[in-house]
Amino acid sequence: MDEVTRGQGGGTQTQHDRHGQWPKAESVEDFRRNLAAVNGRIAAACQRAGRDPASVRLLPVSKTVEEARIRLAYAAGCRYLGENKLQEVSRKWESMADLTDLKWSVIGHLQTNKAKLVARYAAEFQALDSLRVAEALDRRLQAEGRELDVFVQVNTSGEASKYGLHPDETAAFLRGMPAFSALRVRGLMTLALFSAEAARVRQCFVLLRTLRDRLRQEAPQGIGLDELSMGMSGDYEIAIEEGATVVRVGQAIFGARNTPDSYYWPADPGSGPAA
Ligand SMILES: *Cc1c(COP(=O)(O)O)cnc(C)c1O
Repeated sequence: MDEVTRGQGGGTQTQHDRHGQWPKAESVEDFRRNLAAVNGRIAAACQRAGRDPASVRLLPVSKTVEEARIRLAYAAGCRYLGENKLQEVSRKWESMADLTDLKWSVIGHLQTNKAKLVARYAAEFQALDSLRVAEALDRRLQAEGRELDVFVQVNTSGEASKYGLHPDETAAFLRGMPAFSALRVRGLMTLALFSAEAARVRQCFVLLRTLRDRLRQEAPQGIGLDELSMGMSGDYEIAIEEGATVVRVGQAIFGARNTPDSYYWPADPGSGPAA
């Protein structure tokens, strides 16, 4: 298989040039329309890659979105939402506790002093990149009598500003995971380079997939590496062509965010949307 592309997707472009232009969803109808559009693009990307659309999970990302609009998304069928910041999502956990079948995935960097909240309320944690956090989470989960699905975050863009393990550190990190019996490792997660240059973005996804394929052969028992969480509004189609099983999509569903992305991950001056 070609290292750079597979399937027919080599020409797929990023949608980073739509940055700031995603229409804001303000009714259940709007959400249905945006979800249908994203699901249609997911299906088309799967077709190009010869994949079953059922092998890709769409995780809507609701960060910065206020409760009233999240309830509209819920009414439109969303039952699983991604959030980046603990401070924000813990408020939402409280105010939307009545939506008992709504599950939350924490997809952003976690500090150990917030591990208790994740252990109690999250259905999934996608940004595991330190043993200290693994230890804190495991301890809190044991106390709650819970287990948690986790993804190990890998830095595939080489940007110092991004969270995640260096690809070369990942094997050793995984070898330490069986010690944390409340953490169920499901796979790897990454954020690609934020660039309009599709080939460079694709390279990040290829790196995560080939790393996963390699690690799968040597992973300790019980460490699952079936999942690849990669791709967001601007690049999820490329991610699917390269094997994503989870795509984390915010703005294409909820509408453009005002908060700059640097609030979530510091900007790399060389790779903005204009690059
Ligand atoms: C915000 C965020 C996303 C989604 O980004 P959009 O541009 O809104 O699609 C994906 N992953 C992580 C880790 C995020 O923080």
